[in-house]
Amino acid sequence: MKKILDLVLPTPCVVCLKLGAPICVTCQQSFVTSSLGFEILGVPGFAISTYNTEAAVMVNSVKEKGITSLIPYLAELIVPHWPQELIRPILVPIPSSPSNTKKRGFSHTSIMSRALARRLPGAGYRELLKSARVRLDQVGLSSGDRVKNLEGAFRADLRGFHDRVTPVVLVDDVLTSGATMAEAMACLRANGVEVAGFCVFARAGAH
Ligand SMILES: [Zn+2]
Repeated sequence: MKKILDLVLPTPCVVCLKLGAPICVTCQQSFVTSSLGFEILGVPGFAISTYNTEAAVMVNSVKEKGITSLIPYLAELIVPHWPQELIRPILVPIPSSPSNTKKRGFSHTSIMSRALARRLPGAGYRELLKSARVRLDQVGLSSGDRVKNLEGAFRADLRGFHDRVTPVVLVDDVLTSGATMAEAMACLRANGVEVAGFCVFARAGAH
């Protein structure tokens, strides 16, 4: 029933609730974005926002409320900040834990990666990472426990992937400690795939 109503009723903006698009033009324009570059394991990456109130509302609208129609709008915000060095990338989503993916019924990082791939010239999209086992939610864990929780969390699925030239760029929504990103890089590296960069929508805990 909800799905049918979504088709006939205009969507409210997730930030100001004005009816129209999942994020209205006003909220989109007043959301301040900039390229916040940083490195993990010597690999350069970027976020386009800190994890401020608006960023949190947007991310949670997707993850907790299932408003996947917002994702292309978030991709639109990221594209202007895409670094020159990472042209024609293969975008690889960081998988959520199996329990969260099951609960949501979709993978928001996969949708985000595909949305970005459609908007970046020459970009491709591959799901090279899979969840290897059940893991706890990172929220509420200490930084030491976060690293431990992630050990062996991913496995590489390189079937049919023979390209070792095109830059692989990992995609996630929010980066907190960087432990997830580091584990994903280590997993691909152990399988002979060097990660060229990473892209996250928001960075939490950045100063
Ligand atoms: Zn709005």
